[in-house]
Amino acid sequence: MPQRLQFLILALSTLLVALLAGLPPAWAQAAGDGLLTPVRLQLKWTHQFQGAGFYLALERGYYREAGLDVSIIEGGPTIDAVERVARGEADFGVGSAGLLVERVKGRPIVALAALMQHSPFVLLTRTDTGPPHVHALPGHRLMLETHAEELLAYLAAERVPVGMLTIVPHSGSVDALIKGEVDAITAYTTSEPYDLRAAGIPYQVFSPRAAGIDFYGDTIFTSDRMIREAPAVVQAFRKASLRGWREALADPAAAIDLIRRSYAPGLERSRLTFEAEEMARLMMADMVEVGYMHDGRWRHIAEGFAAAGLVPRDTDLSGFLYDFDQKPDMTWLYTALGVLGLLTAAIGLVTARFRALNRRLRMEVAERSRLEAHFRVLASQDGLTGLPNRRSFLETAQKEVSRARMTGTPLCLMMLDIDHFKSINDQFGHAAGDASLVVFCKASRQALREQDVMARIGGEEFAVLLTDTDIAGALAVAERLRVEVEKHDAEPMEHRFLTVSVGVAMLAAGESLDQVLNRADRALYTAKLEGRNRVVMA
Ligand code: GH3
Ligand code: MG
Ligand code: MG
Repeated sequence: MPQRLQFLILALSTLLVALLAGLPPAWAQAAGDGLLTPVRLQLKWTHQFQGAGFYLALERGYYREAGLDVSIIEGGPTIDAVERVARGEADFGVGSAGLLVERVKGRPIVALAALMQHSPFVLLTRTDTGPPHVHALPGHRLMLETHAEELLAYLAAERVPVGMLTIVPHSGSVDALIKGEVDAITAYTTSEPYDLRAAGIPYQVFSPRAAGIDFYGDTIFTSDRMIREAPAVVQAFRKASLRGWREALADPAAAIDLIRRSYAPGLERSRLTFEAEEMARLMMADMVEVGYMHDGRWRHIAEGFAAAGLVPRDTDLSGFLYDFDQKPDMTWLYTALGVLGLLTAAIGLVTARFRALNRRLRMEVAERSRLEAHFRVLASQDGLTGLPNRRSFLETAQKEVSRARMTGTPLCLMMLDIDHFKSINDQFGHAAGDASLVVFCKASRQALREQDVMARIGGEEFAVLLTDTDIAGALAVAERLRVEVEKHDAEPMEHRFLTVSVGVAMLAAGESLDQVLNRADRALYTAKLEGRNRVVMA
């Protein structure tokens, strides 16, 4: 029964898993119902090639195909994309690796795809007037944009005390550097170097990579709320955006045309081309799938931030990285299965215990019946000679008498008494008497047939039941027995022959066992009287 229950539980759980695995996620139907879901994307910076993939995805209808109506919101130095997404003012944003720091600070943001495998973030100074190296920065003015945590990590790694710099909010252009209003600016290698070059300003690049800091660059992110409430939208947006980015890299000219046409008419083609080339280098699309990110790399980035004291060591990244292969939340199912598993195990344990007990019980029962059988044999046997005892003989004889009466087959009985047995005991002791009894039994059995039942019914008195035997046959057996016994010496002496007197009686019609036994007994008595060592028929 417990085994059957176990099987039932297993079968039910298997069925449950199969059913649930086959179910489509609850939000799978969210898209494709004809209505487009409005979605806001907050860019990090002003319109330039940095947003190319998103513009193409919108222009070419990839967002629409995905059921999304995407608005692309321009960013800039004063716009905090993290803040906007965290507050729900935008659904998606583009940020730097500093997103991780924001997450640790408690911003409910989730990274979806790393567009740039290497960060474009650098510090720029003028070669002619600015500090000649990064360690010369203290005492100078730095124009710093929001979420440049990576550059702070760089300065920390270079042991440059940020507190000794004059920090100025970023204006979004290189003008301040050109005009000498600041001595250093945070910048993207993809844009500002072009602007400085175009303005004929000699510049110097301080890259975090010089200090071994190699982080992801632009990264698409969203909010915890979006992940929770609209995971299908998140998936769809990510997929369509990455498709747009692949095309922007494959056909930068088309993207540049689009940017100049619809987003930033003032930007020169050559500047956008410079940016496109620099971005392609950082996105490494020929080597890495666009948008690819690896949690090991994010952990490494976390360590970089930790080294600068921007996040605690061993920061937990769970929740920050979006598992875009994620399945519907089946925690409850796993819990249920766990409970079922435990239950099954418990039942299994009980069953095993039950089986062990059962096995022991069966063994005990078997042992007891074996002992019982043993005792039964002992109870019906004579200990010295191994012959049936008186009680057992009478039982057998009673059965045979009834059977003979029913079948009409002849039945004879012999009563035997060893002659002068007392004298053996007297002369040689009781042990010699016992040994002689054993010799007598062996000799007698030799003279008897297989089916004849011999029993010890008294001290040195024996009885033999001869089934299916008439009186002539019985007399013949008795005589054979007498002759055989006579051939043996009593133990331990030689030439002291054993002899036996025998009384034989055949069951007469209507006679009881007692009666026929009595007659045999009387015949035995006669044999004794007539001189012993003889057979007398009743
Ligand atoms: P008989 O039968 O020829 O008249 O003489 P007997 O000496 O055999 O006399 P009886 O049958 O009356 O005596 C039997 C003796 O056998 C009595 C007892 O001392 C002895 N006896 C009975 N049972 C045992 C036994 O188990 N072992 C031994 N050693 N002697 C026994
Ligand atoms: Mg006797
Ligand atoms: Mg005797």
